[in-house]
Amino acid sequence: MQQRYAYGYVRVSTHDQEEISPDSQEKLLREYAKKNNIVILKIFFELGISGRKADKRPEFQNMIGSAKSKEHPVDTILVWKYSRFARNQEESIVYKSLLKKQNNVDVISISEPLVDGPFGSLIERIIEWMDEYYSIRLSGEVFRGMKENAMRGSFQARPPLGYKVKEHGKPPVIVPEEAKIVRIIFDKYVNENAGFFDIARYLNSLGFKTSHNKPFERRSIEYIIQNPTYCGMIRWNRTKNDTNEIKDKSEWIITDGGHEPIISKELFDKAQERFKNEYLPKGARPASTYKHWLSGLLKCPDCGRTLTASTMHRRNGERYSYFSCYGYSKGKCAKPNGISSLVLEKEVLQNLKEVLDAGTIEFELHKLEPVEAVNERSILQERLKGLTGKENRIKASYREGIDTLEEYKENKQLIQKEREDIENQLAELSDSQPDDPAATKDKLLKKVFSVYSIVSSDQYTDMQKNTALRQIVDKIVYNRQTDTLKIYYCLYQK
Ligand SMILES: [Zn+2]
Repeated sequence: MQQRYAYGYVRVSTHDQEEISPDSQEKLLREYAKKNNIVILKIFFELGISGRKADKRPEFQNMIGSAKSKEHPVDTILVWKYSRFARNQEESIVYKSLLKKQNNVDVISISEPLVDGPFGSLIERIIEWMDEYYSIRLSGEVFRGMKENAMRGSFQARPPLGYKVKEHGKPPVIVPEEAKIVRIIFDKYVNENAGFFDIARYLNSLGFKTSHNKPFERRSIEYIIQNPTYCGMIRWNRTKNDTNEIKDKSEWIITDGGHEPIISKELFDKAQERFKNEYLPKGARPASTYKHWLSGLLKCPDCGRTLTASTMHRRNGERYSYFSCYGYSKGKCAKPNGISSLVLEKEVLQNLKEVLDAGTIEFELHKLEPVEAVNERSILQERLKGLTGKENRIKASYREGIDTLEEYKENKQLIQKEREDIENQLAELSDSQPDDPAATKDKLLKKVFSVYSIVSSDQYTDMQKNTALRQIVDKIVYNRQTDTLKIYYCLYQK
C-alpha cells in the first residue's frame, strides 16, 4: 500500500451525546493511520466551538488552507466522524468536492464505512444528511438547555413588580396588590392613550409605590410597558452580561415563561404596537424621519389616508415638515392636500385656544371597558386613615422627647400638606359624575387646557406633544381646496 500523508482534524462538540474526548479521537486517528500506512503530519484541534458555521472554526480554516496550498502537503484528511468535519451537507459537499477536485485530497471518516463508487458517495451523503439532521435536532436541544438555564437565572433574579419568588428555582407567583398596579398601567397606556408621565403621576397621586418602594417615574412605567413577563412570557438575552448594555432586539429571545400572566397577550401586544409607533431612540433617528408632533393625526379629506410628513429645510437651516396625503404619493388619491407644519401648528394651536375661550366643545366619547377597576375613593380614604396614625405617632415621639419641637412641627406640616392633597383629590372625584354631560365636558376642557399648555411649550419633545394630543384628538382633517381645518375631539372614559 502506497504511503499517504494526512492531517487529522479533532473537534469536540460539547452538545454531542455520543462524544469521545479529543485525546481518544487523536488516539483512534493515529491507530487508523498506522494500520493504513498513513503518516499524520499534524492534527488540528478545534476545542469547544460548535460547528454549525464553518467560518467560525479557525483551526478548520487553517487546515483547509494548508491542505489546498500548492505544496500539496497531504492527500488525506482524517476525521473520527464526518460530523466532526462539517455540520451540514452543503458545507461538507462543498469542502469535500473542492478538496478532491482541486487538490486531490480525500476526507476519510475512520469510524464510518467508506464504499467506493456512486453507491459509496450516496452512502456518504446519507451519512451527512443524518449528521445534519442530528445537528439540527441537537441545536434544538442546545437551545432548550440554554433557555432552561436562562429561565432558572431569571427566576433567581428579582422578579418585576407584580411578582414574587415563593419557591427558589420555580416560576414567580403573582402579588395581587402589585398586579393591580400593573393592570392599571397597561390599561391607561393602551385604552386611555395616556403617556408615561401621566401614568406615573396618576399612580403617585394614589400613593402607589414601585417594587423598590419609590414613587413611579417615567422610566419605571416605560420599563413595565415593555416587559413581556406580564403576559406570561419571559425575555432573555436582552442585555450583555458584563456591561448590561442592551442588545439588538433581533437577539432577544422571548419564550413562554411558565408563570401566570397578569395581563393578556392581546393587551401586551397593543402596548408594544403603540410603543413601537411612538418611540424612537434619539441616536437611532435619522434626520429624514424626524417626527413632527402632529404626525399620524392628520387625515386626507378625499381618501381618508394619513398625511405623512417629509422633512424640509429653510434657508436658515431650520427644519419643518411638509404633510401630504400618503395615497397621493402612491398615485391612489387625486389630491395631495399638502400643508406645511409652520402653517398647521399655528392653526391647531389657534383651534385649541378657541375651544378654551368659548368653553364649548364638540367631541366623541370613547367608552372604555376597564381592565382593572380602581376604586380611587377607597384608596384615598385609606391613605387619610393612615395619616391619622402617622400624626399620632409623631405626637408620641414629641411627648416622649424623641423629636424636638422643630422636628415635630416640620413633620406635622408635611402631613398636613399630604392631607390637603388627598382631600383635594377626593373633592375632584365627587365633582365628576361619569354620566353627567356637563361634568364630562368640563373634564375634557380641563384636558384640552393641559394639552394646550404642553403643545404650545418648547419644554416638551415632539413625542410627548404627540402623546398628549392623541388623548383628546381622534383626527385632524385639512382640506386644501377650502383651506379649512377640522379637529375631531374625543374623550376616553370608563
Ligand atoms: Zn388622499
